[in-house]
Amino acid sequence: MATRSDVRNRLGLRPVINVSGTMTHLGASIVVPEAIRAASEVMPEWVEINDLHRKASAAIARATGAEAGFVTASAAAGITLAVAGAMTGADLARVEQLPDASGMRDEVVIQMGHMTGYGAAIEQGIRLAGAKVVPVGNVTDARGYQLEHRISERTAAALYVVSHHTVQYGQLPLDAFARTCRARSVPVIADLASEYDLRGFLAAGADVAIYSAHKFLGGLTAGIVAGRKDLVRATFLQNSGIGRGMKVGKESIVATIAALEAWERRDHEAVRRAERGHLDLWMKRFAGVAGIRATIIPDPTHNPLDRLVLEVDPEVARITAWDLADALGAGDPPVIVRDHEVEQGFFQLDPCNLHPGEAPVVADRILAELEAARRRNAPSGRTVAERRAARFERLLRWPD
Ligand SMILES: *Cc1c(COP(=O)(O)O)cnc(C)c1O
Repeated sequence: MATRSDVRNRLGLRPVINVSGTMTHLGASIVVPEAIRAASEVMPEWVEINDLHRKASAAIARATGAEAGFVTASAAAGITLAVAGAMTGADLARVEQLPDASGMRDEVVIQMGHMTGYGAAIEQGIRLAGAKVVPVGNVTDARGYQLEHRISERTAAALYVVSHHTVQYGQLPLDAFARTCRARSVPVIADLASEYDLRGFLAAGADVAIYSAHKFLGGLTAGIVAGRKDLVRATFLQNSGIGRGMKVGKESIVATIAALEAWERRDHEAVRRAERGHLDLWMKRFAGVAGIRATIIPDPTHNPLDRLVLEVDPEVARITAWDLADALGAGDPPVIVRDHEVEQGFFQLDPCNLHPGEAPVVADRILAELEAARRRNAPSGRTVAERRAARFERLLRWPD
């Protein structure tokens, strides 16, 4: 195990422990040594960048079973550029014309329950290409005939999102969605940024599959666009157009290749066992503690990953789930929990981004905050709305 550097200390940054997941706002992931090595090896060298992109295409094709692949700046960039590619094809005049889409098919259909965000709204990612968003169904119910009805002569692509952030019921399954689109020759672009399965979604009918390189793969910041060669080529050609402002450097391209290779070699069972060890330790430490209830739940989109749910009973614990989450984040060391549903009185602990020795610290911190709250016996009374407002105020004060 490499020793940890003190870079955070040097920069005056807090030594946060991440039990929230692969989050952009926390630095995305612990980059695997193979990707770090590849990136530092290429940094001082010249490379012919489109040849490097050719090598990456082959690596992505091997890992995903796709015809071709293209490395983008991020999955979000991949979504915008794949939509642009579906609009322009390999026509460079059109590539240069965007985001003015006149004369092109410019509509993208998407189920309303998939219109999620990842720090920015996915519908803006579509509009950024010059396309128009055409929602299908309502938030909790989308049907095949509604999808058919929304497809027209103007449809450039269909976007399908697999994520815990989407509505998890009432949506069309990918294979049925893709069948309808294929019958109308509409390419299906699937946003799979956080999904571990690199092959199954293409096999289920997606024409283009988009992944984050910096999430479960542990690469440098990048996106992976894999799929039909004509569509991936058209996505790549956006480098001469709107993609220029989203360019990816040589370091991220070689790191993506290295991260894919490392993923193919990784002992996934051993990783799972280590994560299970963290969960078991937490379950043991939280058993019988008044005011909380711990359970283990599977990942909602069937990634091979479980998380711990910690429900907080504020009457007994004398603290709400959100005040506990904030106390953990404010303490020493700061522990950042998975809190996007915290208004329902629980948060989660994600075991997959921990350094050795951190899992017991997480348990210590939680038990210490609970003990402090019990002794204080003075719940703050702060509402979720006040908590959210405070976050936005802080954001708007940046860089102060
Ligand atoms: C994280 C995420 C994104 C954004 O990925 P980046 O590579 O960080 O741009 C897009 N879609 C989903 C579903 C995500 O989880």
